[in-house]
Amino acid sequence: MLPLSIMIELLTLDFVHPVEGVQAFSTTRVDVDKRNAYSGVNLCDYVGDDALRVLDSRITLAMQLGVDLDDLVMPRQTHSCRVAVIDERFRSLDIDKQEEALEGVDALVTALKGVVIGVNTADCVPIILADGEAGVIAVAHAGWRGTVGRIASSVVKDMCRQGASVDRIQVAMGPSICQDCFEVGDEVVEAFGQARFDVDAIVKRNNDTGKAHIDLRAANSAVLAAAGIPIDNIAVSQHCSRCEHDRFFSARRLGINSGRTFTAILQR
Ligand SMILES: [Zn+2]
Repeated sequence: MLPLSIMIELLTLDFVHPVEGVQAFSTTRVDVDKRNAYSGVNLCDYVGDDALRVLDSRITLAMQLGVDLDDLVMPRQTHSCRVAVIDERFRSLDIDKQEEALEGVDALVTALKGVVIGVNTADCVPIILADGEAGVIAVAHAGWRGTVGRIASSVVKDMCRQGASVDRIQVAMGPSICQDCFEVGDEVVEAFGQARFDVDAIVKRNNDTGKAHIDLRAANSAVLAAAGIPIDNIAVSQHCSRCEHDRFFSARRLGINSGRTFTAILQR
């Protein structure tokens, strides 16, 4: 038997307009060992953490949520804009076929109940979405590449194919890097400009360093608004992963070889 951890402390993510029967959260780090960049709860199995520790955390979370281990679904993210739909057909696949279907995917959509869909992030923006009336939920990982590629818009389209309606979709962004912490090179600013983002609205310059800082949350809000989501339906967590790196994982602060914050949604 694996030694089961104590309860995982979850940060509840609230929508502006509550969606009945839906639970959304981000995992948090507690009692952090500052010498260990994986210290805290990490469910991500491809960032160099000990496999048994990852499994232990997944089992603990599943038990805490009252679901089975294979009800926790998370993609193997690659900063792509690919969306996978988790349906009965996916659920009927063997585990290796499921893993294949989740390879290179950065967003998930489902209309199933009891399935926990989530993404792993360390500074990137985790986005959860729900249309309670249609019973369609989604989650996306938006780093700067995914944001430039408008992954949030792709997710909305896939939700609508499953019966959701843009005017009813509620959105919440979980803990992510704040604009002050997100210094980028000019090539990143150029990428946003080439993708026709309103650069003046999302980029500011640090007066001392002259470096550009991008507001990834505002950029994703703009993508969602352009996709038809009412701006009043978008909630944005003000928790910064880098400022609060002892509570959330931050690749900028801890290095790329570190744990990830798991942000997920499920409907019961
Ligand atoms: Zn910050």
